[in-house]
Amino acid sequence: MKVQIHGAGMAGSFLYMLLNQDFEVGITDTRKKPDCRCAWGIAYSEAKELYKEIGIDLEEYVLIRPEYAIANGLRLRNKNIVIFDRKRLLEDLWDQIEFRKIEAKIHIDATGFKRALLPKIKSDRVYPTIQTVEKHNIDDNIYIYARKTGYAWAFPLGDDRWHIGAGDLNETRALELIEMLRQEYGFKEKNGKICSCKAKIRLLPPSACKPFKVGDVFGIGEAIGCVSGAGEGNVPSLKSAKIFYECLINDKLEAYEYRILSEFSWIEEEHKFVEAVQNGKRLTALLKLPKIVSIESKRSVSQSIGDLIRFMKVLK
Ligand SMILES: Cc1cc2nc3c(=O)[nH]c(=O)nc-3n(C[C@H](O)[C@H](O)[C@H](O)COP(=O)(O)OP(=O)(O)OC[C@H]3O[C@@H](n4cnc5c(N)ncnc54)[C@H](O)[C@@H]3O)c2cc1C
Repeated sequence: MKVQIHGAGMAGSFLYMLLNQDFEVGITDTRKKPDCRCAWGIAYSEAKELYKEIGIDLEEYVLIRPEYAIANGLRLRNKNIVIFDRKRLLEDLWDQIEFRKIEAKIHIDATGFKRALLPKIKSDRVYPTIQTVEKHNIDDNIYIYARKTGYAWAFPLGDDRWHIGAGDLNETRALELIEMLRQEYGFKEKNGKICSCKAKIRLLPPSACKPFKVGDVFGIGEAIGCVSGAGEGNVPSLKSAKIFYECLINDKLEAYEYRILSEFSWIEEEHKFVEAVQNGKRLTALLKLPKIVSIESKRSVSQSIGDLIRFMKVLK
């Protein structure tokens, strides 16, 4: 079986390493090298297990284990998020990858929000993001300033370096959010900006990103909506690649869509919750709270229903 992967980001490079053990596999990317854009937060326990399968020790890439995540003033103890050097990890993977095109029977759309091979999604929801690397002498926690339509973040990278950024309905609103985050937590802009860039993120659950397969093309990662309502896409992308790999080696590709939808039912729940909050459907959001608290307490930070109710109250 020959497989051609398009896109060597989180999902594509991971799938390449899995497949390369048993298959002839080609991979291409439009970028010349991995970029340093944000997205350096990862759910540690799951990511560690997944990367182990391709011989990577995630621990070697962990920069910081923040003690708290502070969102709109609410201080929550961090359980499972680490900040990892995503750029260096991808660079190390790219060193092991032979970039080439092959005549393949199966093509993989791992092009992230671009979804370059699969058909366009009707009513797609791709948000612009803006991010910088800056120097600040502030406690190494995760800082969030959220409103209903988006949020700004500050992630510590160690040595007083920070990823600061935001995503919202448009760039102007994202910039406003960054300004609010600066005011709330004291990330003053005059402190040396090292670099800045823009990106995009798809905020739709897998069920809204069908089809996952058209002809000989299968989608993995963000191309098929493997991103949570809170924008967590690193582990879901890896996981979707693993599911594809398992379906392929077990000759069960017909089960791929079902497996993705079952695995990411938690992502579906999170998107419904976020949508309810955004649309002011307070009762629907409240009814979903126990589920969301249970999901996120395992994946990211300790929280209670009361914490989330307080958080919802201060969201504008
Ligand atoms: C600013 C920002 C911050 C984020 N923060 C976090 C975070 O802290 N934690 C988290 O879990 N998630 C985060 N996410 C989400 C996460 O980064 C993505 O969901 C995840 O990277 C998706 O993985 P992927 O492999 O599907 O796509 P990507 O990692 O985006 O990779 C797609 C690859 O495809 C390539 N490509 C594009 N078009 C083509 C083409 N036509 N042919 C070949 N190659 C192509 C691109 O160059 C890229 O290398 C963030 C996203 C953004 C934008």
